[in-house]
Amino acid sequence: MNEQFEVVIIGSGQAGLALSYYLTQQGRSHIVLEQGRVGETWRTGRWDSFTLITPNWMTQLPGFPYQGDDPDGFLPREDIVAYLERYAATFHSPILCGVRVTAVRQQPEGEGYLVDTEEITFKARNVVIATGAYPKPKLPIVSASVSRDICQLHTSYYRNPQAIPSGAVLVVGTGQSGCQIAEDLLESGRQVYLSTSSCGRFPRRYKGKDTAWWLTRLGFFDRTLDQLPSAAAKFACNPHISDNHDNSINLHRFARQGMIPLGSVQAAQGKQIILAPNLEENLAKADAFEREITQGIDKYIQQIGIKVEANYATGEAPSNCTTATKPILNLDLESAGISTIIWASGYKLDFGWVQIPVFDEAGYPVHLRGVTVFPGLYFLGLPWLYKMKSALFYGVGEDAAFIASANADRR
Ligand SMILES: Cc1cc2nc3c(=O)[nH]c(=O)nc-3n(C[C@H](O)[C@H](O)[C@H](O)COP(=O)(O)OP(=O)(O)OC[C@H]3O[C@@H](n4cnc5c(N)ncnc54)[C@H](O)[C@@H]3O)c2cc1C
Repeated sequence: MNEQFEVVIIGSGQAGLALSYYLTQQGRSHIVLEQGRVGETWRTGRWDSFTLITPNWMTQLPGFPYQGDDPDGFLPREDIVAYLERYAATFHSPILCGVRVTAVRQQPEGEGYLVDTEEITFKARNVVIATGAYPKPKLPIVSASVSRDICQLHTSYYRNPQAIPSGAVLVVGTGQSGCQIAEDLLESGRQVYLSTSSCGRFPRRYKGKDTAWWLTRLGFFDRTLDQLPSAAAKFACNPHISDNHDNSINLHRFARQGMIPLGSVQAAQGKQIILAPNLEENLAKADAFEREITQGIDKYIQQIGIKVEANYATGEAPSNCTTATKPILNLDLESAGISTIIWASGYKLDFGWVQIPVFDEAGYPVHLRGVTVFPGLYFLGLPWLYKMKSALFYGVGEDAAFIASANADRR
């Protein structure tokens, strides 16, 4: 059975919905195919205490900016889902839920694409792939050498401290997710070992304002791909920042509260974990990243000459370093009482089902602002699709508007 549409959008996260909004405004025939439910990633791919780290005023999907009474707060998981559901309802987005796309192919004859699902093949002149920035958990090879007695999971499967075996926990990676989960565990009373990586740190607040407020003024979120030092820099880990105005996430604070910071995991054999001697280096990198950001803000303050609160106000001064005098280089999971390892090792793309040669050697789609060389084939929602903010609630709308208009020109 075949169904024909002008545009098929695959995925009903923020990216797919933002585009559907513009196509609806333009009166274009389209359908959104979603394998789960609206906002599925937030329902099943995040932990219970998850909140966004972008303040609510940055939740700005087109035609539906955050309207609540806490613009400086941070949306928890259920509220993100509710926001997306309400958004879809406001313009009656034509979504088919529970429909997984198994392949996208070029039409054998003529123009356009075939979009295969388990039941139906859709024909479309245009296809927009909005299946998410982080579709597949990435586990490092070293995880395969860890004893089977140890429970191992990726951050996307972590829910809460009660859902993992009792005992101490080793969290590997200090990007955003690793730090938030390590804090969740620490607050529940668990002994946490935290293997650091070289990710940076943002202070939550600086000189009386949320750092995100300063960063928007500095053009941080509007930086384009060509302003990065290399194309690979777009895959760099996300710096850690708190989702709480009173308590900035900071590895030094974690250490003082009883968490045990470690160097990066290098190798594993059964219950022995070999750690790199780079803890001090990783802590210094996080401190330096924060320093660079705050210096940039100071420069901006000087340039425009505004009055600000004088205090540092990050909740933490980088000099308060608390690390073990003798670094741990060999961690014995048994004697440390560690029952669980949580790998905060990021995500990878997975476009094996797109049967069109639009990918580079690394499997990354080749595009310019989401537009590919295949007429009518687009990508939306990828980090740095065009700007730093491309995969954020704050920026995906701009890319969606661009693709809607590029596609309208094709008619
Ligand atoms: C841990 C974490 C924290 C983040 N924090 C923030 C934050 O604080 N602020 C912020 O703005 N952004 C944040 N982001 C980034 C970003 O907002 C999310 O990644 C966002 O979900 C991306 O939206 P999307 O629509 O591109 O993808 P998704 O929300 O992942 O939506 C893609 C949809 O496509 C569906 N799908 C996938 N494959 C198929 C298929 N084959 N057939 C049919 N449907 C399919 C999925 O079920 C899903 O519903 C965070 C991301 C992560 C991972």
